[in-house]
Amino acid sequence: MNPRITLKAGKAKPVLAHHPWIFSGAIARADDAQDGDTVDIFDSAGRWIARGYYNARSQITARVWTCQDEPIDRAFLRARFQRALAARDTVVDQAATNAYRLVNAESDLLPGLVVDRYADTLVMQFLTLGVEKRKTEFVEIAQELLEPHSIYERSDVDVREKEGLAEATGVLCGAEPPERILVHENKLVFAVDVKRGHKTGFYLDQRENRRRVVEFLSPAPQPAEILNVFSYTGGFGVYACAPNPAARVVNLDASLDALNLARENMQLNGVADQGECVQADAFQMLRRYRDQARFFDTIILDPPKFVQAKSQLQSGLRGYKDINLLALKLLKPGGTLVTCSCSGQVSPELFQQVIFEAAVDAKRDVQIVARLLQAPDHPILLSFPESEYLKGLVCRVMY
Ligand code: SAH
Repeated sequence: MNPRITLKAGKAKPVLAHHPWIFSGAIARADDAQDGDTVDIFDSAGRWIARGYYNARSQITARVWTCQDEPIDRAFLRARFQRALAARDTVVDQAATNAYRLVNAESDLLPGLVVDRYADTLVMQFLTLGVEKRKTEFVEIAQELLEPHSIYERSDVDVREKEGLAEATGVLCGAEPPERILVHENKLVFAVDVKRGHKTGFYLDQRENRRRVVEFLSPAPQPAEILNVFSYTGGFGVYACAPNPAARVVNLDASLDALNLARENMQLNGVADQGECVQADAFQMLRRYRDQARFFDTIILDPPKFVQAKSQLQSGLRGYKDINLLALKLLKPGGTLVTCSCSGQVSPELFQQVIFEAAVDAKRDVQIVARLLQAPDHPILLSFPESEYLKGLVCRVMY
């Protein structure tokens, strides 16, 4: 018998609608539940409604495994893992791409667990105590199902602190990954540093957007000047240059490590002489280009998360407006702005409103020609709107 938690009156509805999070304020009693335990979840009338895991140290005090009466044992976890893997077969062309997300936590009904594949290496993140306690089981399941060369842990994420957990990184099984893993993404080659890179090494969630953006560049072989702001390791820039030898890209990022990899990635794809890397603060550099009256055909804006919490919403929105206003001013007539936000707190509607306000201030007529979202190996769970976080617009500046 699992320990039980009982919800307050009126708080069972989201759980019954398969939302996976139960906040501390929804819980009336937790009886003998210990942090990390599997718990049975009851509504205020004493009816069993779900099974999940518990951590009183977190504001998200319970996360739901299942709304069916089934044991949360190794067979259960393995079946969930397997279901996530099978789903990737339909959304990732594995002949062209061998770097992608295998398990996307709550969206794959494995709350707190992230598993990314980089060729023969797996990178895992255990974001909560509930999955931390099952780390050995998950590592064994991953070994059984995927037989990777190595599994590396990148649980160096802030959210662990909210769970009362320290950050953790290191080899979980197999060999230590090399400094650079070469992966294929849509048949392009990228060097990834899974040990020190951002997230698990690469922004896998932008894969489809990187591919799509090429459709909106001026048709090859016309020359095009592209400014790739917040370039990280140059992903969008490589995609833009590879089909068009006349294209030139400026990769702009604050991180020297990222730009060193961007240079390597340009080389690996035979486009080294088509680009330059500029280490600078984007807010300052965009102003400098404005002062120099330097114009571009395409500008890509893929900033880090400006809104980490609700309290940062207004300042974050000002940040988005600022860079988009500057970018709109730097585009040639007919030019293209690709603008993204990975802040979950900023809805697609709100983001579009910000771009509209930027266009008004920039005094430019702007069309939306495409909407972007996270790649399908980062699925959005319908019952969990929080899982939608990445949004983007491809805009054309008319005049
Ligand atoms: N477009 C990239 C991912 C961008 S991630 C891709 O497709 O891979 C965001 C990047 O913004 C990071 O590389 C980070 O180093 C950079 N960054 C954060 N703040 C910055 C700033 N103020 N100026 C320039 N770059 C910044």
